[in-house]
Amino acid sequence: MTLSRAELEHWDRHHVWHAFTQMQEYEPLLIEQGEGAWLIDVDGNRYLDGSASMWCNVHGHRHPRLDAALVAQAGKVAHTTNLGLSNPTTIEFARRLAAVAPPGLDRIFFSDDGSTAIEAALKMAFQFWRQADPAQPAKTRFIAIDEAYHGDTLGAVGVGGVDRFTAMFEPLTFSPIRLRPPGLPDATGRIPTCEESLAELENALQKHGHEVAAVVMEPLVQMAGGIIVHPRGYLAGVRELTREHGVLLILDEVATGFGRTGTMFACEQEDLVPDFLCLAKGLTAGYLPMAATLTHGVIWDAFLGTHAEARAFYHGHTYGGNPLAAAVSLASLDIFHEDRVLESLQPKIARLTDHARRFSALDGVGHTRQCGFVLGIDLVADKAKGRRHPWYEQRGRRACLAARKHGAIVRPLGDTVVIMPPLCIAESELDQLAEAVEKGVLEADR
Ligand code: PLP
Repeated sequence: MTLSRAELEHWDRHHVWHAFTQMQEYEPLLIEQGEGAWLIDVDGNRYLDGSASMWCNVHGHRHPRLDAALVAQAGKVAHTTNLGLSNPTTIEFARRLAAVAPPGLDRIFFSDDGSTAIEAALKMAFQFWRQADPAQPAKTRFIAIDEAYHGDTLGAVGVGGVDRFTAMFEPLTFSPIRLRPPGLPDATGRIPTCEESLAELENALQKHGHEVAAVVMEPLVQMAGGIIVHPRGYLAGVRELTREHGVLLILDEVATGFGRTGTMFACEQEDLVPDFLCLAKGLTAGYLPMAATLTHGVIWDAFLGTHAEARAFYHGHTYGGNPLAAAVSLASLDIFHEDRVLESLQPKIARLTDHARRFSALDGVGHTRQCGFVLGIDLVADKAKGRRHPWYEQRGRRACLAARKHGAIVRPLGDTVVIMPPLCIAESELDQLAEAVEKGVLEADR
């Protein structure tokens, strides 16, 4: 059955409840195909995928080696459970992932998306302290950073801090001890120094360390909070302080992992190993839903015992460790290695910096913030005073919709337009993408 575009649009509006979307204002765009860094709609129009299909695509769409890995695994089995069973592809991937992960993080719990990777880490950290030797059952709380985003399941919402996403659900969630985001200007426009932000954490740990299970944070850059880039040294400082105060560290690398910040994992840049590393999105190169919560032997050991001791982690997801996803993820690691993806990314990051400079010079643009291969562009009403547009004008959304007409798909975070393409994008395509976004920004300003 071939459906007309009108029929598809009608059924889309009627049946499909789109994520983070006001359905009353929803404008369908029907993407039917992908090719490298491009998306192609049902009418054959081509768009550069400037948001990497929600920050997850790495090597491009329809990559022949990823497609082949998927087909080959489908020829064996698409899915078997990892509740008490295993399969060779998932085992091989776990081993390879442990080999590229920060040293010692070689125990891997698979789930299916970023939120569930976080949920697993939160619950593991909580349970660890009940089963540690000696047990510390008072450690039931978390320290989290304001404007953090860790996903939309309730535990993840609880440690999240983007009010417009989380405030509604506050009665349903636990309350973490919150820190101000490092690198974000305060009400007076002053950016706290790294030392001041660390001192705030130290205070919180001195006061609450005895009741805190873990600090949870996005390393180097808080994406959904508006591309908030942390000062250098903050992350390493957090690791030191958490160690000193006997608190675990959960790093959410769901968005930063797999090259986005210029290294395989953001935490490599400050040379530290967390207690939990949460991965999703780029884990499968953006092909399939799979996530992983990595931890080390000390945590793992605390969960061992006989059945009667009831120390197991009673938590799991149907598709955790799915073989199709594992096969594609394995092939993605091969591509990273064989195609020297991280090396070829460095000139593209420099090129994005050139574009950031150009955006900064535009009248309607305030700050731009870049971390590796992601750029946030703040749209402002008054550049000199840094005054924002009234929120209801939706300048960010308008700029992104205008950019579509020029062949780019990007998403806003409020009035911050985000450029976050697949790592595979060519420099000439990156130029095209920046040009389309610039036109969108200018048109939204008229
Ligand atoms: N953590 C971070 C840092 C994210 O950016 C996201 C999603 O954007 C998540 C967690 C949640 O991931 P998912 O949407 O796969 O549940």
